[in-house]
Amino acid sequence: MSLKFSVLASGSTGNAIYVETAGQKVLIDAGLSGKKMDELFAKNGLDPSSLDALLISHEHSDHIKGAGIFARRYNLPIYANEKTWKAMDSALGTLTTDQKFHFEVEETRTFGDMDVQSFGVSHDAAEPMFYTFTHGGRKLSVITDTGYVSGRMKGIVGEADAYVFESNHDMDMLRMGRYPWSVKRRILSDVGHVSNEDAAHAMADLLDTNDKAANIYLAHLSKDNNMKDLARMTVEQTLASRGYETGGSLKLYDTDPSVPTPLTKV
Ligand SMILES: [Zn+2]
Ligand SMILES: [Zn+2]
Repeated sequence: MSLKFSVLASGSTGNAIYVETAGQKVLIDAGLSGKKMDELFAKNGLDPSSLDALLISHEHSDHIKGAGIFARRYNLPIYANEKTWKAMDSALGTLTTDQKFHFEVEETRTFGDMDVQSFGVSHDAAEPMFYTFTHGGRKLSVITDTGYVSGRMKGIVGEADAYVFESNHDMDMLRMGRYPWSVKRRILSDVGHVSNEDAAHAMADLLDTNDKAANIYLAHLSKDNNMKDLARMTVEQTLASRGYETGGSLKLYDTDPSVPTPLTKV
């Protein structure tokens, strides 16, 4: 029985990641409209009514936009930490008490035959956190929406077989772009998003401590300050400068704001 996942949508316009084992199907974030969420599931031949749980990373709208609608439509339990619940509760609309569950930072929970570990990230939300998923000796780590990747985060996400890793912006595009300085400063800050280059250095640090085969999905690309080819090229070059060639046992994959990645074994 294997661990499988699909990045249904990723980017500053909306995020949703699907993870399944034979016994369990979970969704991390539902950051698009209910209609778009349904379309993403359909594109991959997946059935949202078979979901067991919805895990929320933080209350920004690109992560919760369709969460309330989806939870009501498919009668899903939602898991989030207490501060995130407080911050997002009114935005989700009416839910029954048996749909609201706490999942605190740095907690490991078992969902059927899948172990899920949460960890805090550095981002300007109430208490943002992301997750690792393990099953049958395989591990998937999801880390986006963080201003930097700390040693503590690396310790938790490391030794994974697959990563969904934020590669948010190109430094030069952001600096030269049309965003007001206050927004640029927010993105560049410790509680914003990681650049292509910083993401690649964090990946290299992870590989330094455990040089195993890995599939890395470049995620949460900025619509205005990044491009898939540029993200990939920058990450490839930075990894190469650290001694890691991509294409062999280390592979990079794109994600897209509206096209799901194929359901793939971790
Ligand atoms: Zn965010
Ligand atoms: Zn986000």
